[in-house]
Amino acid sequence: MSREIKSAAHGKTCPVAFCNQVMEHREGQGFGHERPEAATVDHRLPQSLGGVNEKWCLLAICNDCNRILGQILNERYFQVYGGVIDVPFRKLKKYVDFQYKISSKSFNEEEFSDLTEWFKTKKKRSSQSFLNESEVGESRSLVGSLVSEARDMVEEVIS
Ligand SMILES: [Zn+2]
Repeated sequence: MSREIKSAAHGKTCPVAFCNQVMEHREGQGFGHERPEAATVDHRLPQSLGGVNEKWCLLAICNDCNRILGQILNERYFQVYGGVIDVPFRKLKKYVDFQYKISSKSFNEEEFSDLTEWFKTKKKRSSQSFLNESEVGESRSLVGSLVSEARDMVEEVIS
């Protein structure tokens, strides 16, 4: 099921608010954080809180958003309270509600101001650590011109 969801997401924009990443799915390829654009399957109710591999619970979002949501749950809840069973129920309920709603462009950030702030901060940080496409293009052409300069030098030496 998760394979179908990911391939259906290929070429579509990540549904998460504050994200406009176009998702990519390459069949059978593993990946890590170096591919923020990879389509991943998010459990709308996190697995650690009882989420299951059933369609109602699954949604394709980009790898970057998926990682950030996982980090927030870990850092702001599980680590703070020392484990999933020690987090107060109303806090978990709020987080689940947040994660469910942020996976939509009609997300209302005022309802979850602190969680939204954390999400945006992490989103900004992660986008800075990756070159965007035009920057990659620039660095490629820079390398290209250095290579051709070096080639010219070699040719001069030879001739
Ligand atoms: Zn995203």
